[in-house]
Amino acid sequence: MLDPFGRSVSYLRVSVTDRCDFRCVYCMAEDMTFLPKADLLSLEELDRLCSAFIGMGVRKLRLTGGEPLVRRGIMTLIDNLGRHLKTGALDELTLTTNGSQLEKYAVDLYRAGVRRINVSLDTLDAAKFAELTRWGRLDQVMAGLQAAKAAGLAVKINAVALRGVNDSEFDDLIAWCGREGFDLVLIEVMPMGEIGEAARLDQYLPLSMARASIQRKWTLDETDYRTGGPARYYTVRETGRRLGFITPLTHNFCESCNRVRLTCTGTLYMCLGQNDAADLRAPLRASESNALLEEAIREAISRKPKGHDFVIDRRKAPTAVPRHMSVTGG
Ligand code: SAM
Ligand code: SF4
Repeated sequence: MLDPFGRSVSYLRVSVTDRCDFRCVYCMAEDMTFLPKADLLSLEELDRLCSAFIGMGVRKLRLTGGEPLVRRGIMTLIDNLGRHLKTGALDELTLTTNGSQLEKYAVDLYRAGVRRINVSLDTLDAAKFAELTRWGRLDQVMAGLQAAKAAGLAVKINAVALRGVNDSEFDDLIAWCGREGFDLVLIEVMPMGEIGEAARLDQYLPLSMARASIQRKWTLDETDYRTGGPARYYTVRETGRRLGFITPLTHNFCESCNRVRLTCTGTLYMCLGQNDAADLRAPLRASESNALLEEAIREAISRKPKGHDFVIDRRKAPTAVPRHMSVTGG
């Protein structure tokens, strides 16, 4: 699948639920209204949609959310999607998770063919963690991470850089990841979803500043390592682990974008930072054959925009897209 700018679309991210057992302050409001359960695609429909994309050239699939591991029956979907790894149609099946359910699922995930996971963790301080996630418990996530390691899953930690919250902890996170054998990716906070304008401006920390302070203590060697994602990677010489930076606001990464995102109601977003979308649920449900669905997917890809419009600027309203990250999946 080629988009109008010649980019090959080979990566599908699927938000399997908009629900979550945490309420991270940069991601959700405390009193979120979730989609009615009746609007969700069934696990069978999600499988059919993912399989159609794989048939059309998607080589990498990432499940996300909300929290993917709180969707009831999620292991059935993951087990079933694992068949595409066995046939070689899919190179990688992976997920982004908050880690709360990993103790329960790590072994099953490995068995289904998952080899790498991203776990979101912004702080190693239990009190700060509770404050940031509102409902989360650090010890549960830590137990999940140990279970993932024991099961043989490679772990990448995603941490959103938040000014005045975890910017004093980057050194600790780098050292801890070094000890645990995890890679680390720092992410700039993106203006998604209504959480209060003042909050967003206060949170934003350009990663160019973070990197400068990190380099006072650590030696960052440039690498050309890519995971098919937007992160730029360095190797931390002192730990031997990778450190990535995702900088949507300070560095525009759209020219190499290879992905599209599907929501749990079957809406396809061709760009995380744009509102244009395509409904795939109607063509999916219209017939048992995939012909209409494939036509709708092709039509959507032909509309993939050149880039996002994110901007955090004191002179402008900070929310570039009104939906929360949990809808499209981070
Ligand atoms: N619940 C899972 C988790 O937390 O990993 C998966 C979904 S979550 C929406 C995916 C990623 O998006 C997480 O790493 C989270 O930190 C990040 N995220 C959420 N809201 C964000 C925002 N406004 N800006 C940048 N990253 C955000
Ligand atoms: Fe849930 Fe992930 Fe959003 Fe936190 S970042 S509220 S864990 S979906």
